[in-house]
Amino acid sequence: MHEYSIVQSMLDLCEKHSNGKEIQKVVVKIGKMSGIEPHFLKSSFDLFKEDTLCHDAIMEMQLIDITLLCVDCNKEALVDSFNFYCPHCKGGNTKVLTGQEMHIDYIELKE
Ligand SMILES: [Zn+2]
Repeated sequence: MHEYSIVQSMLDLCEKHSNGKEIQKVVVKIGKMSGIEPHFLKSSFDLFKEDTLCHDAIMEMQLIDITLLCVDCNKEALVDSFNFYCPHCKGGNTKVLTGQEMHIDYIELKE
């Protein structure tokens, strides 16, 4: 369950950026290829937030689509599965541009 360790470093980061204020909302971007299970991430967050400045915070998740760059024809393509062939030239010489990352987009503090 690596979602646990992700959530703990997320909470650390939130506290570091909030200057001691309570946090109302955490918006997280999750790539569809990041290997993170949004459902687990959310329940881990709710479990670990209790003793932190995030104890009242809600976590909002936004999924990032998978996009590829084809090295051969230099076009970008949106893919919705683990299919890494370029839809334009059918080549397999592609790089993943987005969809592997996971990061905090922004946090909202309580007034
Ligand atoms: Zn191509």
